[in-house]
Amino acid sequence: MFDALTERLSGVFDKLTGRGALSEKDVDAALREIRVALLEADVALPVVKDFVKTVKERAVGEDVIRAVAPGQQVIKIVHDALVGLLGGEGEPEGLSLTGEPPIVILMAGLQGSGKTTTSAKLARRIQTRDKKKVLLASLDTRRPAAMEQLQQMAEQAEAGFLPIVQGQGAVDIAKRAVQAGRLQGYDVVILDTAGRTSIDEDLMAEAKAISDVSNPRETLLVADALTGQDAVETARRFNERLPLTGLVLTRMDGDGRGGAALSMRHVTGLPIKFVGVSEKVDGLDAFDAKRMAGRILG
Ligand code: GDP
Repeated sequence: MFDALTERLSGVFDKLTGRGALSEKDVDAALREIRVALLEADVALPVVKDFVKTVKERAVGEDVIRAVAPGQQVIKIVHDALVGLLGGEGEPEGLSLTGEPPIVILMAGLQGSGKTTTSAKLARRIQTRDKKKVLLASLDTRRPAAMEQLQQMAEQAEAGFLPIVQGQGAVDIAKRAVQAGRLQGYDVVILDTAGRTSIDEDLMAEAKAISDVSNPRETLLVADALTGQDAVETARRFNERLPLTGLVLTRMDGDGRGGAALSMRHVTGLPIKFVGVSEKVDGLDAFDAKRMAGRILG
């Protein structure tokens, strides 16, 4: 995902560490190159501007040009700024699953973003790691195939699946899922909402109505990292309408430019909680800002 960016940044860093002393001009030139590298990686412009500003301020503040190993120090500042951009030093946030069961997790996102796959992956993860019983429910009333897909994936994940009742609306399915979860002793109910090919008023109104009746603890937006700035714009717009608690970026195993991953947190203010790393039901990793920054810097 970050190959091109990693290569560009390592070129910049090689120049910085290749010489003993650095002038202010050298640092400025490096910052310009970092700016171009981030823009080429499809990172949103305001994010790039803030990032470069942060690095510059820290470099000035720490007086890097008078440091013993100025190049190394700049690299460290860039690393720390990247960690900050991705969500900070802390442990990965994970999910909030304590309290009166069933805890509801609402999954939102555009069609094709990987929402259904991610719902099943999450069910599997919660069952195996947190040892909690999960019920999956499909609310995609317009696409019977999507309902069947979730049913199949629920089997792979060895999670419960709310039986499909033909003709029932999404809000009623949400209510039935929560009730079934309560009566059947599930700890967690994951609601896979309908996706559309683009954001429209119907989609938002339906997702909001589902949220209102199911009172979700977590509302996760699933976005396809390969769609770059579109994914960021989608997240921004969903976040205006739904009380999102986090993001899941899918297809991080793909050959994209990585800009979405770098822009998401800054643009939406929401934590990236998980990343999808394969099509398989176990292909979901907790998002770790430090590890990701380390990967980007190679
Ligand atoms: P939905 O329409 O949002 O529910 O999307 P799906 O869950 O049906 O996913 C669309 C396609 O993306 C499927 O072929 C999935 O196998 C694939 N997919 C989902 N997440 C990932 C991922 O993290 N990595 C890869 N490589 N493929 C994924």
